[in-house]
This record gives sequence, structure tokens and C-alpha cells, in this order.
Amino acid sequence: MFTLPKEIEELKVLVRNFAQNHVKPIVRELDQAPADDFNWKIVREGAKLGLHRLPIPKEYGGLGYGILGTSVAMEELAAVDAGTALIFGATMLGQAPILLSADRELQNRFLPLFSSDEPVLASNAITEPDAGCDLLIPENAKYAMNVLSARKEGNEYVINGVKKYITNARVAKFACVYANLEDYVGAEGLTCFVIPLDTDGVTFNGIADKMGYRSCLGTEIVFNNVRVPAENIVGGEGNGMLISIQQMNMARGTVAAISTGIARGAFELATEWAGERIQGGKKLYEHQFTARKLAEMATKIEASRLLYLKASFEADNSLPAPVFEPAVAKLYADRIAIEVAEEAMSVIGARGYIRDHHLEKYMREALGARIYEGTPEVLALAITDFLYQEDKIEEAVW
Ligand SMILES: Cc1cc2nc3c(=O)[nH]c(=O)nc-3n(C[C@H](O)[C@H](O)[C@H](O)COP(=O)(O)OP(=O)(O)OC[C@H]3O[C@@H](n4cnc5c(N)ncnc54)[C@H](O)[C@@H]3O)c2cc1C
Repeated sequence: MFTLPKEIEELKVLVRNFAQNHVKPIVRELDQAPADDFNWKIVREGAKLGLHRLPIPKEYGGLGYGILGTSVAMEELAAVDAGTALIFGATMLGQAPILLSADRELQNRFLPLFSSDEPVLASNAITEPDAGCDLLIPENAKYAMNVLSARKEGNEYVINGVKKYITNARVAKFACVYANLEDYVGAEGLTCFVIPLDTDGVTFNGIADKMGYRSCLGTEIVFNNVRVPAENIVGGEGNGMLISIQQMNMARGTVAAISTGIARGAFELATEWAGERIQGGKKLYEHQFTARKLAEMATKIEASRLLYLKASFEADNSLPAPVFEPAVAKLYADRIAIEVAEEAMSVIGARGYIRDHHLEKYMREALGARIYEGTPEVLALAITDFLYQEDKIEEAVW
């Protein structure tokens, strides 16, 4: 029988109970609150389970679940609220460069922070007002405009510029921030710095009024002559693009798990409705057209889950994490989340279109997951580059 390791099955049950018992009762409140509202109470409850330190090795005070366990937890959270999943998911994205590419000294300084009594969150800051995908596609780095700059002064770097849409930034302890070294074109000198967000010169502009994921905050960070010591560089000068890509390869399985969770949440509403609603003298699911829709939705979710489980397993068992499986898993999961939410709306009809039914929230969140950690276009380029440049077509298709 296909099963997950026992400890991950147990984690799944714990996270499902947390999502159902703590998040679900207030999910509408979380969704309808003002954009800058942040529910620390839920974060504290989640932190009691260690949701903010799932992939960190036990030697650093983490739970040592790796990417596979983290992904399974993300599906459970996103099936109820993708925003809550992303609070913990974005923290993992902020930890990933340190886990993957930092030296022991940097790991010793930042990873144990997550085992304190008060929950600690982190951010990964890549996107900027003038540079989105240009900071994710290596060939386009030279075209990136007005990128956050890092000027070397002695044993420090002086950082200036703006990052945008950064999840958790307003509530995080530190961010992994990608800045371009002075004198390099575009983002060709991209370098990853760990920057505590209470450093002098760091300020925040408004919180983004997002259409979904409203329980997590997306914020603009302004860096005004922020001084960062050289020892806070992750993985060496000029290696930022490589580190960012490795971080994405590691993390895309977990984002695919969030999309799978969103699809599952919408599907659960559709099956519940189709099992109760009677039209034409029988329950909706007994009509063949509806049965076909439900069966297609179930199949897509099952396939999506298997893809993210495989991608996450591979990310845990190969260094560096693979390009192909995580990109394929995210490309597929993001698409089917939108398709399943849309089909669920068609199964439920007008009731699903009314806001308090909750289905429309899944539609909004399905669209969001498609944007971060690689749009479909960025993923397609990563997949085809891998297939052609490394001559892997036969292996991948097999
Ligand atoms: C919910 C949410 C959370 C987020 N959290 C974070 C975060 O924590 N940290 C962070 O750094 N960012 C975050 N982002 C931002 C996100 O990563 C970026 O929005 C994303 O990388 C795309 O950048 P952009 O929006 O500037 O789009 P652009 O780069 O302007 O792209 C717009 C469109 O053009 C396409 N495109 C661009 N270049 C190419 C190309 N070369 N070939 C083909 N098509 C192309 C894109 O695929 C897209 O469809 C978040 C976004 C959302 C929605």
C-alpha cells in the first residue's frame, strides 16, 4: 500500500485538527478583516505544533520533517485557509536559503531563533516594483531594472531600494533579501543577504490589499542606507540567482501542496452540496453530468497530490533539489486548483456565488498561488530549459 512515513501521517492528523478546530471557525473573519489585520493568536496556536520550524533539522531546534512533511502540512492548512498556509510557508521560504546555502556560522545565528517560546516568522524578499520575473529567470537578469543595490564599504554592504509584495515582512524577524552588487548590470550581481528587519534604515510601506490570502500580509520593504555585515551574505557574493533558484526548486513542491489544498477545499464543498441538493427528483451527484464533473475533479486532485509528494520527496533526497519535478508539480497544481474551484462553482450554482458560502474564497486563492514562486511562464521555461539543455527528455518522459 502507498503510505507516507508514520511520523508524517501523524503530522498530517495534527495539522488537520489544528486547521479544522482553530482556523476553520474564524476563516470568514480572517478573510473579511482589513488588509493590515494579522491574527497572532492563530500563529501562536500553529507554532505550538512547530508549524514555523517544520523543515529545520532537529540539531537547530527544528522538527526535522524536511520538505515532504512541510508539504503535507501545507495541503492541510490550505484546504481551510491558504493565507494561514502561506504565513508558515513563507517562513519556510525565508529559512530555505540559510538551510541550503549558508555557512555554519550563519545557520547557528538564525536557525535556532525559531525554537524560542514566542513564534518567529521569516520572509524571502525577491520581487521589486520594476523587477518581477526578471529576478527569477537567469537569462533575463541582465534586463532587470532599478534592482535593490548593495554597495561594499569595508566589511559592510549598504543596501538601497525597495522590495514589494513580501509575505510576512511586516511581522517577520528577518528576511533573506536579494540585492545587486554595485557595478553589475541588471541583476547579474544578485547576492542574498540575511537582514534582520529591525535594522536601522528598514521601513515598511502599506500592506497590499490582496484579493485572497488575506490572513497573511504582503508588504513593501524600503531599504534606506541599510548597513549589513559581510558575514550576513548567504553563499557568497554574486550567487543570489543560483541560491534563489535552488530555494525555489526546494520549495515549489510545498506551493504545489498549497494549490492542491485549495482544490481539495473547493472539492469538499462541491461534494457536500452534490450529496444533499435534489433537482430532477434525485441528488445532484446521481445525475451523470455532475458525476462526471466530480470524478474529474477528484482525479485532478489525486494526480496533483502525487506530483507534489514526489517533488517533495525528491527535494529531500537530492542536493541540490531537482528542477523538473517541483516545476511540473507546481505548474499542474496551480492550474487544477483554478479548474476545480471553477467546476465546484458550476456544481453548486448560485449558492456558491454568495460570499458567505466560502467557495469564492477558494477561487480567489487559486489565482494567487499561480503567481508566486514561479508563474506558469517561468515554470515552463525552467522545465523546457531542463529538458533541452541537459538532454533529459527521455528520462523525464519515462
Ligand atoms: C500571494 C502572493 C504572495 C507573494 N509573496 C512574495 C514573497 O513573499 N516574496 C517575493 O519576493 N514575492 C512575492 N510575491 C510576488 C511574486 O513572486 C511576483 O508577483 C512574481 O514573481 C511575478 O512578478 P510580477 O508580479 O512582477 O510579474 P511580471 O514579472 O511583471 O510578469 C507579468 C506577466 O508576464 C509574464 N512574464 C514575465 N517575464 C516573462 C518572460 N521572460 N517570458 C514569458 N512571460 C513572462 C509573467 O509570467 C506574468 O504572467 C507574492 C505574490 C503573491 C500574489
